[in-house]
Amino acid sequence: MTHTSVVNLKRGERCDVYMGRASSAWRARPLLDPGARWNGLDGFYGNPFPAMHGRGSALGHFLPWFHRKVATDPVYLERVLSLRGLRLACFCAPLPCHARIIADWIDAFPEDWAWAFLEVVRRQAAARSEVSPRSCSA
Ligand SMILES: [Zn+2]
Repeated sequence: MTHTSVVNLKRGERCDVYMGRASSAWRARPLLDPGARWNGLDGFYGNPFPAMHGRGSALGHFLPWFHRKVATDPVYLERVLSLRGLRLACFCAPLPCHARIIADWIDAFPEDWAWAFLEVVRRQAAARSEVSPRSCSA
């Protein structure tokens, strides 16, 4: 059983990957662990919903978006699955955070199940891209 954790950048905790938005990457860069992977600084893992109406609202929008995204976007899913067992860094912990949602989702099922799920999502995405050009020309 792996444990994917969420750490707070402001506390100087050891971390592996930045989970915030690209717009906050300049704040994260000097705080990131020297051993951290830098592939999150483009904001790839960030919550696309702003917190302007509060943290609960941003997370309330993120949850269904995330569930739809992992089920339909194999590129996103593969990168999310690559976070398994890592220390995800954000500015929120221990407050509720989209990184916590992602970490809990990853840890909720075994790794072999995760790769089987990716295979299914890939096949469905490929089937969709084969169908749409034909339906357009009809
Ligand atoms: Zn956060």
